[in-house]
Amino acid sequence: MTKPEQHRVDGLRKLMKAEGVTALLVTKRENVRYLTGFTGSAGSVLVAAGRPWLITDFRYKLQAARETSDVRVLIQKKDFPAALREAAQRAGVENLWFDETHVTIDSIRKLRKQGLRPKEYRDLVGELRQRKDARELRHIREAVLRAEDSFRQLKKYIRPGARERDLAFMLEFLMRERGARKAAFDTIIASGRNGAMPHASTTDRRIRQGDLVTFDFGAEADGYFSDITRTYCVGRPSPRQREIHALVQAAQEAAIGCVRSGMACKALDAVARDIIRDAGHGEHFGHGTGHGIGLMVHEGPSLSPLSRDRVAEDMVFTVEPGVYVPGWGGVRIEDMVLVTNRGVKTLTSLPRELEGLKNL
Ligand code: ZN
Ligand code: ZN
Repeated sequence: MTKPEQHRVDGLRKLMKAEGVTALLVTKRENVRYLTGFTGSAGSVLVAAGRPWLITDFRYKLQAARETSDVRVLIQKKDFPAALREAAQRAGVENLWFDETHVTIDSIRKLRKQGLRPKEYRDLVGELRQRKDARELRHIREAVLRAEDSFRQLKKYIRPGARERDLAFMLEFLMRERGARKAAFDTIIASGRNGAMPHASTTDRRIRQGDLVTFDFGAEADGYFSDITRTYCVGRPSPRQREIHALVQAAQEAAIGCVRSGMACKALDAVARDIIRDAGHGEHFGHGTGHGIGLMVHEGPSLSPLSRDRVAEDMVFTVEPGVYVPGWGGVRIEDMVLVTNRGVKTLTSLPRELEGLKNL
């Protein structure tokens, strides 16, 4: 565990103290990585008094030693519940709080068998992760750069006759070439009517002259992700394409323009949603306006009508309203913003306008 991770564990302890949580079992992979630096696929952390325990298995013995410091590494001999009991005993833990959004009922049964008293709780580490520290921001900016540079390279292949699937493959190849270990998620390239599905993936469809094409993609950098969407017209746009694109762009601009630390995330969602509804497209915008992003592509806060989150400084989230018209197509524009003390800084920079392909 290096300095930034120590800082994060300290932050977690403060939160635990305020919530009356004396021992926390952290199981989600991204949370384990955030607290310890450990990137293996199997590992859990017990945060109680004293140094945190990282419990993993034989496969990760060397990796755990290399990636962490200031944690006690326990390599499980039999199974995880037995190893956890050992760590809990050594840490003097009786009651154990766990992340109710991640632990399975089966695991709870096994913990009880080990004589532990598990208590379900919110994802405290996830809440902590909503606000990014300087090192996280560096990785996020790099993930944005890798995605946007790759898209600029992809531009020359985006033309009538190009297949959605081939373009997605090419874009992912370009992102990998720039150092991303993977694409942030399955790239979405939806042309023509396919654009009416917000989470269309890609098909064998070939782009036609005059199509709207929605590109939704992201890259990885040191475990962090980017997520950006552009809808461009290949050729000359029709009046209806212009109208709907301008509407989505206006909704997005308005939402980004009013972000302030302290405001309710659902109020931010309403800014974009009201503009789209007032233009008669309320039923064509059925998803949230945005989501936090970091070690996961979708994490807190949530920008939706039901959200109970509040905007806070150092949060990074997307703002991505859309309009999807069945049988016609769709438009979505998605940018990533960092909340500052005065408003936001937009982290993504590809041209947003409908004919932006020309200006790439
Ligand atoms: Zn996206
Ligand atoms: Zn998104």
